[in-house]
Order: sequence, then structure tokens, then C-alpha cells
Amino acid sequence: MKTGVLLSGGMDSISLAWWKKPDIAFTINYGQLAAAAEVAASTSFCKHLSIPHFVLDVDCRALGSGDMAGAKANIHAPASDWWPYRNQMLITFAAMKAISLGVTHLWLGTVRSDGSHSDGTIEFVNAISGLMSLQEGGLTISAPAIELSTRELIQISGIPSDMLAWAHSCHKSNVPCGNCRGCNKYFEVLGEIGYDLDRLR
Ligand SMILES: [Zn+2]
Repeated sequence: MKTGVLLSGGMDSISLAWWKKPDIAFTINYGQLAAAAEVAASTSFCKHLSIPHFVLDVDCRALGSGDMAGAKANIHAPASDWWPYRNQMLITFAAMKAISLGVTHLWLGTVRSDGSHSDGTIEFVNAISGLMSLQEGGLTISAPAIELSTRELIQISGIPSDMLAWAHSCHKSNVPCGNCRGCNKYFEVLGEIGYDLDRLR
């Protein structure tokens, strides 16, 4: 078994990687506004843990929606941070590289609250894993933290606060805007688990 993780540099995927220690990590610059910060956070984290890290650049800006793309929301958007087929897209790009490296299992940092989007549900993960396993490479997709809240994942992972502070969660900018769904979640969760927010801001 050779494992890979889809690492966005946000606190969910960073905590998952700390917890599960994958063999390889993949970060995708798909044209999201915060790509540079996500790549920087993921790169620092992987360097610190000596995890081989692949950054894939695939410009999908023209196909984005809402906050992450700096575009008008698509008519189907259930929330401001929705991007059409985002997880399906990211999994496919990571998988294209992963099977060339012999990866057999690809992990997603999906947590319980992601279930508000259809591509954050257990049904979605099972379906896309089934779809991948039908194809060359026989990749299995799983989301080990899908039944946990972000807070529970952080606690179970045992990630130290100075590592978590590297996470980049803003959807709109490389410098945290302090007022998007990603930033709100970041500060809410850190407050919940009792980290010193003034030190991190
Ligand atoms: Zn923000």
C-alpha cells in the first residue's frame, strides 16, 4: 500500500496528513485566488515532515464560481465557496499524477461539515472511489476524517499548534481576508480548541 493525500494547506488536510503520515502529498493550483498561500503552506508543512510533495498547476479559473474564483456564483451554487465539481476535479488531477508514482490509496481531508456540499458526503467518496477503481491504476479514494468535526480531527491527530498555525484557510486571498467562510471557520475552530488567536493573527 502506497498512500497519498490531497493537501490544500487548510487545517483539515494538514491535520489529516499529520495524523496519517502519507507517503506522498499533492497540492493543486487550479486557479483559485488563494493558490499561492495554499501552495506555500503545504510546501512548508511537507518539508518539515519530509513528505515528498507534488504541486500540480492546472489553470481552471475560467470554470470556477464564487469566492474561490473571484467570479460571480454559478446558478447552482449552494454557498459562496462552491466550485462546480471541485472535489471530482481535484481528485482526478491528483490521481493522474498519483498512479504514475505507484500510489494505491488517495486520502481526502473531508470532514463532517463538508457534507453541506454534495461532493463532501460519504456517498460521493464511495462513488468516486468506485469509479477510480474501475480504471487503470485501481486507485482507492477515502476520507478518513469524514465523520469527524474539524475540532475532533485536530484533537485526534495530535497536531501541535505551531504546525496548525501554518494552515491557510482563506478562500478569497493569499492574505487572510478575515471575512469569508474559510477564515470564519479557521478562527472559530482555533477559538473552540483554545488556541491563542492574538498570537496567530
Ligand atoms: Zn478569507
